[in-house]
Amino acid sequence: MNWLERKILGFFVKTKGVFSAPLFAGNGLIFMLHRVLPEHERSVFSLNKGLAITPEKLEEFILLFKNKGYQFISMDDIVTCIENGSKLPNKFICFTLDDGYRDNLVHGLPIFKKYQVPFTLYITNCFPNGTAILWWYLFENHAKSFNELIISSSLGQKEFSWVNEAEAFNQFTHVSEAIKSIPATELRSALSNSFGLPESEFEKHCKSVALSWGEIIQLSKEPLVTIGAHTMNHVSVKQQATNLVEEEIQASKLEIERYIGKEVCHFAYPFGGTFDVSLRDIEIAKSIGFKTATLNQPGNIFNSSKNNTLALFRMPLGNETSSERLGYYLNGIYHFSNNSFRKY
Ligand SMILES: [Zn+2]
Repeated sequence: MNWLERKILGFFVKTKGVFSAPLFAGNGLIFMLHRVLPEHERSVFSLNKGLAITPEKLEEFILLFKNKGYQFISMDDIVTCIENGSKLPNKFICFTLDDGYRDNLVHGLPIFKKYQVPFTLYITNCFPNGTAILWWYLFENHAKSFNELIISSSLGQKEFSWVNEAEAFNQFTHVSEAIKSIPATELRSALSNSFGLPESEFEKHCKSVALSWGEIIQLSKEPLVTIGAHTMNHVSVKQQATNLVEEEIQASKLEIERYIGKEVCHFAYPFGGTFDVSLRDIEIAKSIGFKTATLNQPGNIFNSSKNNTLALFRMPLGNETSSERLGYYLNGIYHFSNNSFRKY
């Protein structure tokens, strides 16, 4: 951000969004959620805790948006607007939930149904296939009992150490980048060695939290639910070789379509940050036939976003989203602080 942009941002904050809203609130927001869990089941580790919203908080947000006059739309509605050449609704909210956690069915669906709010579930196939390695939770458990983690792969060895849990959690970003860089074909054995866990543990853990294919089929029949894809193995695509990325994205789409018997035209890039998604990956998602793809990069959605539907911004939403932060989301201040004048 240059000095002029910082000055403008300061002015927007000082004037409480009155001037930013007409310029940067856009038409609406796509929210990114992962899990819906009662408070006592949420993780203690702050980064994983943020992955779960409580049903009460979800309900509170839905009511708040409703009272503010927002319309709830699905990813399909966004596509319909693009295909018809019509404008996006002026004030919309679109909910998406990533990965395919079973709690989406148990705790999320009843709330969405109660208020007739549509939502998209991005399924990473390794969840229902039982092959996912939820290393973000394995790291949390590991940090409670050990003081170091050594990650070895063909890329070399990376060592992390800490004296207490808080310090371990502070290193999460670095651990996460080290793990995401491992070639997908080596991940299973590398993590088994790093965490000192047999590979069978990965499957047990995955099955305890993931939706089954039967449950996904059940969800796909709900009128409010759209099923999207999220790669076969939840890889950080930018870090992987082109042929593997194509295979990860294409196979994921085809397998989900086979199970649910419907076309899958929405995709979310796993992890979805700037470390995880490149222009190459956006081109691949497009060539495979997706109509939309979402990032994990904050920003609002504008009518001009319709020219960039394979890289749509999304905002995280959870119990830790303060009302001040939410205000900045809705009045475009957060968009401006992250993207400056960029509106797509
Ligand atoms: Zn994900």
